[in-house]
Amino acid sequence: MFVLDSHCDTPTQMVRGLDLGSAECSGHVSLEKLRKGGVDATFFALYTPATISEESAAVRVLEMLGKVQDAVERYRDTIALALTPSDALKNKADGLISIFLGMENGSPLNGSLTLLRAFYRAGVRYITLTHNGDNSLADSAAEGKRWHGLSPFGREVVAEMNRLGMILDMAHVSDETFYDTLALSKAPIVSTHSCCRALASHPRNMTDEMIHAMADKGGVIQINFYPVFLSDRYAAIFKEKGEAARPLPGISAVADHIDHAVKVGGIDHVGIGTDFDGIEVAPEGLEDISKLPGVFDELSRRGYSDDEIEKIAGGNFLRVFNDVISVSESL
Ligand SMILES: [Zn+2]
Repeated sequence: MFVLDSHCDTPTQMVRGLDLGSAECSGHVSLEKLRKGGVDATFFALYTPATISEESAAVRVLEMLGKVQDAVERYRDTIALALTPSDALKNKADGLISIFLGMENGSPLNGSLTLLRAFYRAGVRYITLTHNGDNSLADSAAEGKRWHGLSPFGREVVAEMNRLGMILDMAHVSDETFYDTLALSKAPIVSTHSCCRALASHPRNMTDEMIHAMADKGGVIQINFYPVFLSDRYAAIFKEKGEAARPLPGISAVADHIDHAVKVGGIDHVGIGTDFDGIEVAPEGLEDISKLPGVFDELSRRGYSDDEIEKIAGGNFLRVFNDVISVSESL
């Protein structure tokens, strides 16, 4: 089984001083926790908030990139950068955990396809087009007022990402942006960390129609662990009490979202994107990445076969990633 987490915000914590290799590492993700969790590959998100300028965002991404590169060099006996699924399989065979790079929010592109290509060459393999604010590429789920979907620059970015073989990530975008991108992209699209709106009404979550349409085009929804996205009941308490809010949803809530997405999109179109190190609270029983096997145990209890669990654990995302690369080679 190949286990892949398609989204964690660990680079944000690294810029604040988190040391991946420290045994006392307080984050959701550390080398020890990744090993304990049986993780073979994880996407480190280079995240920038919607509230800073594009130039500041570009500099911040470079800072995070440097931190990840330093850690990969320092801990080269445990982790290695990966650019393709075959890199990740080779790393696993060599006993190494793969670090992939994603970029969360397109504003560091600073309106430039040249910068897009530079980030690709630096190893970035997906871009979440927006974070919680409309930007120069597209509208976000949090606002959704500026372009009513993709901007003209956003459309150029989609075409260039198709050509390069970069994965288009729909987490955080508005419904209009989602449908614009789905129609325009020549390759399958994904959400690297989203939940199901049918189970929890947060506008960041995906409707059944979106999950179905994305699956139809070969894509995948990677279920997010953030309690606020998992449960409306918890979200209401969280609004009032913040991090003290209880009771937290548990592993079964995550499994419910996986179950629902499988029913709507099919077993080949669901995976896991924890959002660890980017969330203030985590589900009970999933306090950090070392607890990830608990999700697979729960799926097994619910009657999923080993083959099906393998798909959800990482097989589906690797397939989509390979498909995106194949499409790029045909353009
Ligand atoms: Zn996010």
